[in-house]
Amino acid sequence: MLKRTMRAARLLPGATRLTIGDVAVPVVRPGWVLLEVRAAGLCHTDIHVMHGVEFSTKRGADYAIKRPLILGHEVAGIVVEVGSGDDAALLGTRMAAGGWAGPSTTPGMHFDGGFASYCLIPRGKLVPIPDAVDFDAAAVATDSIKTAYTAVRRTAGVRSGENVGIIGLGGLGMSALRTAVLLGARAYGVDISAARRDAARAAGATDCFESVDELTDAGGVGVDAIVDFVGGETTAAAVEAVNENGRVVLVGLGDTSLTIDPRALVLGRKSLIGSLGSQNTADFVAVLDELGRANLTPEIEVIPFDDLNAGYDRLSRGEVSGRLVVHPPQPA
Ligand code: NAD
Ligand code: ZN
Repeated sequence: MLKRTMRAARLLPGATRLTIGDVAVPVVRPGWVLLEVRAAGLCHTDIHVMHGVEFSTKRGADYAIKRPLILGHEVAGIVVEVGSGDDAALLGTRMAAGGWAGPSTTPGMHFDGGFASYCLIPRGKLVPIPDAVDFDAAAVATDSIKTAYTAVRRTAGVRSGENVGIIGLGGLGMSALRTAVLLGARAYGVDISAARRDAARAAGATDCFESVDELTDAGGVGVDAIVDFVGGETTAAAVEAVNENGRVVLVGLGDTSLTIDPRALVLGRKSLIGSLGSQNTADFVAVLDELGRANLTPEIEVIPFDDLNAGYDRLSRGEVSGRLVVHPPQPA
């Protein structure tokens, strides 16, 4: 029998930091399962959310964030309760869920997420975790890796032998770099942090640069595609820098406006495409498989649950290498 209160980190109305305290364990309902959370990842998107950035557009999907909300949109755990007898076979299974897949589908964004001892997940959003993959890697796979994999493989359509630029070598960018290398491309990293550039070289980058301009300046590299995990001025620079007929894919939400020189886009016949999470469960399964075979080896640091706000401070300052993960405490 579960205790009916649990620890949770909530974003309250008007707040820019998380409030950690005791809340009621959610009551499972048909079509949903209760996951005992074993790992949940910290994403830079949470920082945008905490600072009030709204994810609604004039046309297209409404990804509005409602408060109060338990954050944490990279979740892995064990199913401990099911909403209907039909789902009894799920009890005790290791499952992962998270990342953007459509409106109203993401824990920690559209309903309470994984920064809690327990989390309700729609049963259709669960993906089984292979035995060879631990909870930390599975959590990070739901967004950081899956989004990066989709952006590189599907949205940018990167092929073997191409030159690919990756801007922003953080949680997502490092997974994108590894994906590009796995696809047989030459990957070039761009980051303002020397430590991140060194890490990317160690992970298989052909070379790394401090800015997009440096990537292509005199005698530099011609790149067929650039995937931008920062967003804003870097995107405008990427459109200038990519080869004729090249593709620029934007994943980062680092700015709320963007100025592009139309001549760079039109005269170069270039494409600029947005990429959001992944809508493809088969790709998520492929990512978990690559993790199980150690072809993808994300750098993960586990921090104490009570240090969540300090973790986000480090992420804001660019002081994180790879991905931070917490293990929510289980009720005693
Ligand atoms: P992160 O903080 O782990 O990494 C960001 C990296 O960018 C850091 O290494 C930092 O040094 C680098 N950087 C910052 N400014 C730079 C600049 N001007 N030039 C070059 N490098 C710079 O962040 P993350 O969790 O990997 O998220 C990256 C972005 O992707 C965020 O904006 C996040 O909101 C967004 N995101 C989008 C989706 C999606 O589905 N589209 C999903 C998850 C995250
Ligand atoms: Zn995210």
